[in-house]
Amino acid sequence: MTFRATILTLYPEMFPGFLGQSLSGKALERGAWAIEPVQIRDFATDRHRSVDDTPSGGGAGMVLRADILAKAIDSVGDDDRPRLLMSPRGRPLTQKRVRELADGPGAVIVCGRFEGVDQRVIDARNLEEVSIGDYILSGGEPAAMILLDAVIRVLPGVMGNEQSGVHESFESGLLEHPHYTRPPVFEGREIPEVLTSGNHAKIEKWRHEQALKLTTERRPDLVHALKK
Ligand code: SAH
Repeated sequence: MTFRATILTLYPEMFPGFLGQSLSGKALERGAWAIEPVQIRDFATDRHRSVDDTPSGGGAGMVLRADILAKAIDSVGDDDRPRLLMSPRGRPLTQKRVRELADGPGAVIVCGRFEGVDQRVIDARNLEEVSIGDYILSGGEPAAMILLDAVIRVLPGVMGNEQSGVHESFESGLLEHPHYTRPPVFEGREIPEVLTSGNHAKIEKWRHEQALKLTTERRPDLVHALKK
């Protein structure tokens, strides 16, 4: 099955961007996923093709118009794909939501610009607001690409080694243990002895301890969530 991503944007030429490279690029060529950028401006009605206007109530910046964005969304047609709006006010994206999206048929993703989009189109078209973190980007396009990158890498057959999906940070609720490879000594620093012992039970135990230690130091919130 092909995961279909329709992107509503004022910058369709930004896509597929970096998603056209490496693992996601190969998966795109193979048809594991597909991308259809839609230019929101094509649905403007005036001769200047304007899509935004000044905020009601005053203030800085411009707001994407509800009527024009709604027409762009409706042009995609009604299917069972979730409709997402990239937004710093959204629910923070998690690996759990990434897996859910990857299990589905695809997504329709609206990329905001300017100050944001008119609230009425969010309500009327039932857009799910998704944030990629507590900072402000200049537009939703890079956020949409990050979301897609995370989804594509967990699509069936995209990662060479299926195993290397399940041990990642967050999948177990913890950050991942540290990694080492050759050479055996780098600037006087050795690889932890246990890793070269060949004792797989001991290695697993060590990795789990390291993961727990690292997570406790860096993300006590994750350890706390595990205990609930
Ligand atoms: N005035 C808004 C920010 C607008 S930034 C506010 O304070 O909430 C312009 C656009 O960039 C947004 O509409 C959104 O689509 C995108 N964007 C910015 N930061 C983002 C984030 N952290 N996650 C997802 N999308 C983001």
